[in-house]
Amino acid sequence: MQIAKDTVVTLNYEMFDTEGKLLDKTEHPIVYLHGGYDNILPLVEEALHGKAKGDSIDVTMAPDDAFGEYEPELVRKETKDVFPMEVEAGMMFEADDPATGDVMLFRVTEINGNEVTVDANHPFAGMTIRFVGKVTDVREASDEEIAHGHVHGEHGHHH
Ligand SMILES: [Zn+2]
Repeated sequence: MQIAKDTVVTLNYEMFDTEGKLLDKTEHPIVYLHGGYDNILPLVEEALHGKAKGDSIDVTMAPDDAFGEYEPELVRKETKDVFPMEVEAGMMFEADDPATGDVMLFRVTEINGNEVTVDANHPFAGMTIRFVGKVTDVREASDEEIAHGHVHGEHGHHH
């Protein structure tokens, strides 16, 4: 069957930067509910529309269509005492965004004496991304999945 609104799509993917360096790949296939439920990057969803099991897609996306532009204001300097533990570069922390209440993910990018630099940009922010995907399965979504806007079952959402 073809990928259409309210089908459940299973795919494997690899993501590359513009130099062809591998950024990310699926260890296990991802499963998502297709049809504008905001479960996957919109341009990837568009490319997958009408595809079937065994088909591949190859999409190159500008930062704005992928993980966003790099925003310098998302880089902040904090002092070590605001962290609950000894920090090291590369550590990730969750924090509430005081403006929106959303959970933001910060990466510690640099430590200089008592000063800790944290960056809330997505690690792939500002990058043009090539997304190469291969469809491994397509099935009809259940009424419940459609009502919830996400996939249930083995690789899906658990309640
Ligand atoms: Zn659900």
